[in-house]
Amino acid sequence: MTQKSALVLFSGGQDSTICLAYALRKFDRVETIGFYYGQRHDVEMQCRETVRDAIRREFPEWGNKLAEDHVCDLSVLGDISETSLTRDRPIETEVGGLPSTFVPGRNLMFITLAAAVAWRRGIATLIGGMCETDYSGYPDCRRSTLDAQELTLRRGMDFPFVIDTPLMWLDKAETWDFAQELGGTKLVNLVVEETHTCYKGDRSHRHEWGYGCGTCPACELRAKGYQTWRQQVPA
Ligand code: ZN
Repeated sequence: MTQKSALVLFSGGQDSTICLAYALRKFDRVETIGFYYGQRHDVEMQCRETVRDAIRREFPEWGNKLAEDHVCDLSVLGDISETSLTRDRPIETEVGGLPSTFVPGRNLMFITLAAAVAWRRGIATLIGGMCETDYSGYPDCRRSTLDAQELTLRRGMDFPFVIDTPLMWLDKAETWDFAQELGGTKLVNLVVEETHTCYKGDRSHRHEWGYGCGTCPACELRAKGYQTWRQQVPA
């Protein structure tokens, strides 16, 4: 077993790309894992490849540490859940305060499967972009949930798993700041150009913060975070 390897839950989005950079700074060998779960668009899956390529090109030192990518087909999630991400339903807040983009159990499954892959590969550290601050309130992104899951995985697989969540207590502006700290302007530009956040899969409208429809909750959050960050950064 190696303490120098990590497995990053990597969607091709802003947060998981910054987590990947964090892992590449901190570990000697980094693998990535992504999940297909019947998303309405495959833009995210395409961005995963593009981001990995861009990291190899722009950060050769990190590129040498970037190892295997695993993709798991979880399309069963699309069969059993009725949400805005997997069905043609409007994105809105539903009774109980959870957005309709919430896929029940999704992150729990992602992490469990990531742990199964990591176990086979002797990797104890799982890294994910889950975040409690200024997020949509998904209960499976809370640190208390992840603490419980970490314990369950340790016991259930008899392996010293650690779920590392570097973005947990950062707001979206601080997340951009973190990217700047990890990889400078080059990483910030990579995140702007290559990562995908928009729920609608829009890659045709370019804003200062990247591509997206500009109006869905994910775009609004990304735009607001970027603008707040830019206002704080001295010109
Ligand atoms: Zn959008």
